[in-house]
Amino acid sequence: MLRKSPPGHKTVLIRGVANAVGYGAEAVTVAGLFQSARVVTDSMADRLLLDAMLGKLATYLRMCGYDAAYALDRGVEADDRLLAIAAEEGRVLLTRDRQLAMRAADSLLLASHDVNEQLRELQDAGYELTLATPPVRCGTCNGHLDAVTADEPTPASVPSPDAESVWQCRDCSQYFWQGSHWDDVAQTLDEL
Ligand SMILES: [Zn+2]
Repeated sequence: MLRKSPPGHKTVLIRGVANAVGYGAEAVTVAGLFQSARVVTDSMADRLLLDAMLGKLATYLRMCGYDAAYALDRGVEADDRLLAIAAEEGRVLLTRDRQLAMRAADSLLLASHDVNEQLRELQDAGYELTLATPPVRCGTCNGHLDAVTADEPTPASVPSPDAESVWQCRDCSQYFWQGSHWDDVAQTLDEL
């Protein structure tokens, strides 16, 4: 997700701020740095459920800070079970299946097979698609990310948190930092 940073590469966009605010910070404004950034808080009710065909889209939405549950992460493919989860958890169901969309209390029907087109459809539907700064959701599992403190030991494959902002997923323990993939996603979103 945010991994695979080449040596020496760093993105200054949110550098230094994660340590100051950590996860779950209320709206933080850093003048001049984040004018176009989307500041994500727990109170934002952006709860989505993506059907089995939309795994790539789930990763993008998590990087944008959305609470994007994905059917296959839950081991669910059956329509009835998906509808039950959406209702129980108050999630908007995203799907390309018109019948399924019609059965959900709250749904967004997507037309395209292409993830970039799907992102455009979401943007047209009013979803704000910019990278969450700091990142709050694990792109792999949708778990919450915590900022790794500067003195915390990390594996050799992970940049040192005293030199670069690093986050770890509470649920799957994966580490994230803002590497080349982050920049690629930012560019994709910019070009929508
Ligand atoms: Zn995770």
